[in-house]
Amino acid sequence: MAQITPMMKQYLEIKAQHQDAFLFFRLGDFYELFYEDAKLAAQELEITLTGRGQGDDRIPMCGVPYHSADQYMSRLIEKGYKIALCEQVEDPKVAKGVVKREVVKMLTPGTMMSGNVIKEKENNYLVALTLFDDQTFGLARTDLTTGESAVTFIGDTLEDVIHDIASSGTKELVVASTIDEKIMKRILERCPVTISYEDNIEMDHEYMHLCEKLESDKLITSFARLLQYLIRTQKRSLQHLQKVTHYHVDSFMKMDTHTKRNLELTESLREKKKAGSLLSIVDQTVTAMGGRLVKNWLERPLIDENAIEERLELVTSFLEAYFEREELRDELRQVYDLERLAGRIAYGSVNARELVQLKRSLEKIPFIKELVAKMAPTSIERWFSEEEQVGELIQLLNRSLVDDPPISVTDGGMIRPGYHEELDTYRDASKNGKQWIAELEQKERQETGIRTLKIGFNKVFGYYIEVTRANIHLLPEGRYERKQTLTNAERYVTPELKEKEALILEAEEKMEQLEYDLFVQVREEAKHYLQSIQTFAHSISEIDVLAGFATVSEQRHYVKPTFSKQREIAIVDGRHPVVETVIEKGQYVANDVQMTKGREMLLITGPNMAGKSTYMRQLALLAVMAQIGCYVPATSCKMPIFDQVFTRIGAADDLASGQSTFMVEMLETRYALTKATENSLILLDEIGRGTSTYDGMALAQAIIEYIHDTIRAKTLFSTHYHELTQLDQELADLQNVHVSAVEENGTVVFLHKVVDGQADRSYGIYVAELAELPSQVTERAEALLKQFEEGTVATKATFSSSKPEPDLQLSLFGEVEETVKEESSVFSGQEEKVLKKLVKKDVLHMTPIEAIQFVNELQRLLK
Ligand code: ADP
Repeated sequence: MAQITPMMKQYLEIKAQHQDAFLFFRLGDFYELFYEDAKLAAQELEITLTGRGQGDDRIPMCGVPYHSADQYMSRLIEKGYKIALCEQVEDPKVAKGVVKREVVKMLTPGTMMSGNVIKEKENNYLVALTLFDDQTFGLARTDLTTGESAVTFIGDTLEDVIHDIASSGTKELVVASTIDEKIMKRILERCPVTISYEDNIEMDHEYMHLCEKLESDKLITSFARLLQYLIRTQKRSLQHLQKVTHYHVDSFMKMDTHTKRNLELTESLREKKKAGSLLSIVDQTVTAMGGRLVKNWLERPLIDENAIEERLELVTSFLEAYFEREELRDELRQVYDLERLAGRIAYGSVNARELVQLKRSLEKIPFIKELVAKMAPTSIERWFSEEEQVGELIQLLNRSLVDDPPISVTDGGMIRPGYHEELDTYRDASKNGKQWIAELEQKERQETGIRTLKIGFNKVFGYYIEVTRANIHLLPEGRYERKQTLTNAERYVTPELKEKEALILEAEEKMEQLEYDLFVQVREEAKHYLQSIQTFAHSISEIDVLAGFATVSEQRHYVKPTFSKQREIAIVDGRHPVVETVIEKGQYVANDVQMTKGREMLLITGPNMAGKSTYMRQLALLAVMAQIGCYVPATSCKMPIFDQVFTRIGAADDLASGQSTFMVEMLETRYALTKATENSLILLDEIGRGTSTYDGMALAQAIIEYIHDTIRAKTLFSTHYHELTQLDQELADLQNVHVSAVEENGTVVFLHKVVDGQADRSYGIYVAELAELPSQVTERAEALLKQFEEGTVATKATFSSSKPEPDLQLSLFGEVEETVKEESSVFSGQEEKVLKKLVKKDVLHMTPIEAIQFVNELQRLLK
């Protein structure tokens, strides 16, 4: 290898320790990237790739100016990359040889404190995973911007671990470098997050107090991995980290990622936007903190009835007091993001303007408290315990900072007059000096008679007296000392002016330095109040979320849900919370859900587009809403508390996720079937569609039977296999329901009303017409349908064009394969069908029961 310069040697040494990150290497006013880093960064950032050196030794290089580096870094982080920020840590002027450089900080998706990656109403999680020898898992998560941390312990199923990691907001996962590759592969397939490694799992003593609430060593170890990673990468105060809480996955309603996505809890399926999700409806918060909390609640509905009732009662209290609630929300609107401000205080990156925002927010406490006290007096203790401490901080900020300080912390103008004597003296000196100069200008104008004479200032020459060329002749010889000649004017100084200038400049310099020092003192002092700020921030977010629930419940006429210990569902006039808002006002058809003994499972049939999926999801969404403590869209609602909700969508329908394979459908179904309990809610929408008709139908039936006999979970099963509706005769707890439609003057009207009994037909062709398929196709389909129903033949002759015959199996019913092929027959269509079934059946391999069932079915077809 060719000779490398000492600086490149230094680069390579540092880069060797940061293989998985872009190394931003500070060179004067630029951050430079070299080799592969440079090639990739040039591509990702669309900047020019240059080189250093000549010929074969030329090293690929690209760079960004340090003052605009933030935006470039932010773009890389958004794409999931990591950055090691390497600075010059000694003054180049005094350095001997190569300037000393060090990585001062790592920027990673899970540890960002600001920038585009940080969304106002979304948490930014860093998660650490620890696999213990007994094959159990510990998971720790922290949002560094807010300082919240939580750990949990998950038995031995990787599926559950993956579902937890995949909760929204996870940006980065920290694991041991020795982690099994197969595990990593499975995790990454499902949640493509940035991966980082940390092998140090010793708990750092300085932070031991954060683990006070953790009962087991495993939990502490799980958190330790995360903490060590933070210490190693952040290299600064982590004082704002809050006490780690232990959350039990079993204390929340479990929903896997597929279910959450499918129910569109926090984002819509297709556009991946908040609009169209349940969150967009129940999030009526007015603070960023509340916005984050409501999202968290939606991800983890409660299962403890007392805790749910507590929330619901607060919603009731807020709901009943319209004026106080609106006033409260007005106050809350003026509260800044205290959690993230606390993070910036700890990081030492908060500016004076933000501290004033903090103060103004804290000053709202008494008003908020008073309003809450009027509505929910018993909750005051829980929410306002830290009021006194916060009061001290308000006083400090009031005394020290002006009302409207600048964003910059180095240019002065932040500290309030009267706060610090020395600063006031400098300020006076500067002010007096300037006053003196203003007076001098007046005096000189009078004495010389030059009205345009002025005193100016620039950084190079300081203060000067300027006289335009036209007036120079009026100046008495030797009055001033000439300093600079311009085209139109001369600039002069006097010893007196220079003396004053020295005083002013000295005062200003000292003033700025002193102001900065004083500001830093205030900022440091504020650190002592971090815990109080965080407690208050938490209270605010809860109050905000609950007041928001009350608001939406009132606006949309929701009702307070009640919970049934007998596992009964009795919903009157339930509505889908999102669909009802997107269709024309008053057009939503409310539906009842009755699921009690004898109807634990509902088998839903009905035309496509009739509202089957809406009806199913509606039930799950009502359950989620009730269990996060919100009222629900219904006239009355009684439900059990569900431990888990599972949603499976037939492969044919699941195109949005890009995983339309039958295998995925089956894997997901297996997950539901192995995890569900009798306290769960299962929604299976068109399961079995991804395979051939009989295959699919057989699977669907087997799944229904298994849930019915073994799991006994409350289940909604929608299907287009009308044959399955017979199951109600064998399965005691299965009830057929269908979404009704009527035909009026040749067009079909979907009533969206769910009623007992099975649907009579599919109306598929009608939907095809709605979708504006060529009329040639729909007309031909009509003709074929008629023939199928009559049992007559489908021949090409009736098809007017010479186009190939359409694939029948695609089009209409499951029974297409059964269609009789000859045109003339002495039998009616139905009889023909029975005969065909009989001929095809492998009678020798049937069990007696199957034979009886089969005969029964044939009989039914003939009746
Ligand atoms: P399916 O699952 O039966 O194919 P969907 O549940 O997807 O049908 O509903 C199709 C459309 O019908 C929905 O997008 C919605 O606009 C409308 N819809 C569904 N249920 C209702 C209802 N209860 N009231 C009014 N419109 C409804």
